[in-house]
Amino acid sequence: MSVLDKAIVRVMPAVPKPVVRRISARYIAGTELDDALRVVRNLNAAGKMATIDVLGEEITAAGEAQAIAQTYGAVFDTISDQRLDSNVSVKLTALGLKLDYGLCRENLEEVLAHASAHDNFVRIDMEDSSTTDDTLRLYRELREGGHDNVGIVLQACLRRTHDDIRTLAGLGLNVRLCKGIYIEPPELAYQGFQEVRESFVTALDLLLDEGAYVGIATHDDRLVAEAQRTLHERRLEPGQYEFQMLLGVRSSMGDTLVAEGHRLRIYVPFGRQWYAYSIRRLQENPRLAGHIAFDTLGRLIPGR
Ligand SMILES: Cc1cc2nc3c(=O)[nH]c(=O)nc-3n(C[C@H](O)[C@H](O)[C@H](O)COP(=O)(O)OP(=O)(O)OC[C@H]3O[C@@H](n4cnc5c(N)ncnc54)[C@H](O)[C@@H]3O)c2cc1C
Repeated sequence: MSVLDKAIVRVMPAVPKPVVRRISARYIAGTELDDALRVVRNLNAAGKMATIDVLGEEITAAGEAQAIAQTYGAVFDTISDQRLDSNVSVKLTALGLKLDYGLCRENLEEVLAHASAHDNFVRIDMEDSSTTDDTLRLYRELREGGHDNVGIVLQACLRRTHDDIRTLAGLGLNVRLCKGIYIEPPELAYQGFQEVRESFVTALDLLLDEGAYVGIATHDDRLVAEAQRTLHERRLEPGQYEFQMLLGVRSSMGDTLVAEGHRLRIYVPFGRQWYAYSIRRLQENPRLAGHIAFDTLGRLIPGR
């Protein structure tokens, strides 16, 4: 990232919402379920699987969390009706984690029940470090309670992650491994780009040693190449892992993975609460300053 991009990341919250909306449109399917379904259909036609995320992390009341859980019910019904190849991703804060652990668990169990009814799967996204303990606790409780259609996310940037893998060992893990997007203090997270990469590679090895099904979620060429090397060395078949990428990011790299015979799943968010997700995606866009400047100029020069 350039110095200018880093400066813009800091002032990002001051960028007007309509500008954020326009330049982040590529990362979000739209505001309605139909928008997500259209995107998933196109992805499936291109040989890519999907995971649908109902955006809702800014909720403040129990009713909103319950509404999100119900929306997931509709998502599963439609995935089945339309025979789409997609599971879902949920954020525990959207299901009420910050309001009440029990309420969140109830909502998640409702989503899991819908998933089971359709023989489908729920991935629990990992949010900032204030949620890690509760998220891992809930995952353990669900796995020990016999739910097998649920998986978790681990973040390579967190210093605790390798220990977490060892602690979770034996649960029959299904893990999406990513770098981690939340800004965390140095006591909790590696700050160096290279350190995070190294942690990712070690975490992937630990997970594969453990026999976990891993969703390798990265757009970093070096990590994709390293993962391919490890998968090949371990003689893993495409059904034993998958790659994962975000909607709107490096889709040609995804095409290459699919052409090479790997399974690839694309993260497809939709919903009206698009702001927080958009800000995170824009903050990691390497050409952030250019996009903002282009958009701002576009508004100043009518008819562009
Ligand atoms: C399927 C999926 C699910 C995820 N779920 C979670 C989660 O639950 N919790 C969590 O903390 N994080 C999650 N992430 C985000 C992840 O932690 C990283 O922040 C993100 O993937 C960027 O890291 P990277 O490995 O792609 O490497 P980077 O080094 O950040 O990116 C590699 C290259 O990809 C391109 N790129 C990356 N991001 C963008 C962008 N926004 N716009 C344009 N180009 C871009 C750039 O060319 C960049 O140089 C998820 C990522 C994926 C792919």
